[in-house]
Amino acid sequence: MTHGLSKSRILIHRQCPRRLWLQVYNPALADESTGQPLTEAGTTVGLLARHLHADGVLIDAEDLRSALRQTAQALTVKPRRPLFEATFEHDGVLVRTDLLRPVARGWRMIEVKSSTSIKAYHLEDAAVQSWVLQGAGLPLREQAIAYIDRDFIYTGDGHYQGLLIEQDVVTELTERMPEVPGWVAAARRTLARRKEPDVAPGRQCHDPFPCPFQAHCIPEREGYPVDILPRGGKLAAKLKAEGYTDLREVPAERLTSTLHRRVWQATVNGKPYLDPALARTIRTLAYPRYFLDFETWAPSVPIWAGTRPYQQIPFQWSCHVQESEGRLRHEGFLAEDAADPRPPFTNALLATLGTQGPILVWNKSFEQTRLSELAEALPSHAGRIRRIIDRLVDLLPLAREHYYHPDMLGSWSIKAVLPTIAPELDYADLDVADGSMAQQAFSRLVFENLSDAERASIRHSLLTYCERDTLAMVKVAEHFSMSSADHRTATSGGKRP
Ligand code: SF4
Repeated sequence: MTHGLSKSRILIHRQCPRRLWLQVYNPALADESTGQPLTEAGTTVGLLARHLHADGVLIDAEDLRSALRQTAQALTVKPRRPLFEATFEHDGVLVRTDLLRPVARGWRMIEVKSSTSIKAYHLEDAAVQSWVLQGAGLPLREQAIAYIDRDFIYTGDGHYQGLLIEQDVVTELTERMPEVPGWVAAARRTLARRKEPDVAPGRQCHDPFPCPFQAHCIPEREGYPVDILPRGGKLAAKLKAEGYTDLREVPAERLTSTLHRRVWQATVNGKPYLDPALARTIRTLAYPRYFLDFETWAPSVPIWAGTRPYQQIPFQWSCHVQESEGRLRHEGFLAEDAADPRPPFTNALLATLGTQGPILVWNKSFEQTRLSELAEALPSHAGRIRRIIDRLVDLLPLAREHYYHPDMLGSWSIKAVLPTIAPELDYADLDVADGSMAQQAFSRLVFENLSDAERASIRHSLLTYCERDTLAMVKVAEHFSMSSADHRTATSGGKRP
């Protein structure tokens, strides 16, 4: 049986034959939340390309046979106009083309990408595309890839000219196109197999895109793999090559860095490490204490004047304010509508943070950079924002220096630390449970025409998630400031086998 192929199937096969086989014969094993991360950005950038070629014609038939007919008809219309989603078939391979522009004696193919540079897989994608177009008899004179200029600054009012950089790739595709028939044949051979291909997990599971079948192919880690040694990639590779699979088997003398020794010791003992100096440091912090966290969104196509592509735009913050020991209140902000969120975000933030008291964050560079950007964008607030920056206290390096629990498995992210201190505060009960889900939820609020009930539900999920993040920091800081005697009753050892 000859399998019909799309360009995306050929490219999936290039990433991993097993992935294509699973996608066709056992798609239920896929984790829907994993996959190509820029799909939504790609859609937005594709729409932008249409906006920039307002005289273009969209091949809008959904089923591919109708799209082929519609394309053939559009190619005969005079005068010729740009075509979006023109559809072609060659040797059983179907492709849709982002943009075809008429040029002298033929057409220019432009593949529109949402990234800020051309990657190797873009060239493979364009090579398949060109091979099909030429094979289908289209006089293809020029080939280009359009990508996003990261230095573009949006001036507003729909002025997006200059956002996309078009780069000719004729030379690069001339080298790759002869390989395409081999790629097509290999994909067909894989699909003709009755059994799942025997491909060992490796770099291809994450590169160029995270594969949705990782849970199926990669056995769950048991014990304490040597890979958990923080920033210890080379050493871990060496230890694995020598046959060490579990950190507990590694002789202490093989570990020379203080941090590696600490992780090893806690793991071998099955007990957390907590330096009493940490409690002393936390206790020196004055009240009121502010526990702060930002959520940001980085749209591929800038929406608000003065912003760049993929600029992190803060749209939400949560702040737990500890007035004194045991007195806690919560404040929060979430942008109301599609207007630039930065001014109301900043006004509300400045009002809540007042003028004194330490502002505790987890990984200060993120909040600090966002605040510096806000100071630049809103010069009338710059002085007050800079004084906020001066008050930031980073809990992450304190935790890294003074705390480790075996269950953290070499990570000091708040989501790794929290379950070792306040497991009841996990994120499993939340609809929005991490930063990327928060970004997706907010982009729905901005772009989609939602009912009041849907809007209220998404807002509730976002507010609950961000509040949980700062409550987590409060609990962690409280734990860090407890006396050693309190810890002996409050902490437990590692849970892994
Ligand atoms: S998880 Fe890795 S080995 Fe398994 S199908 Fe995906 S890319 Fe291939």
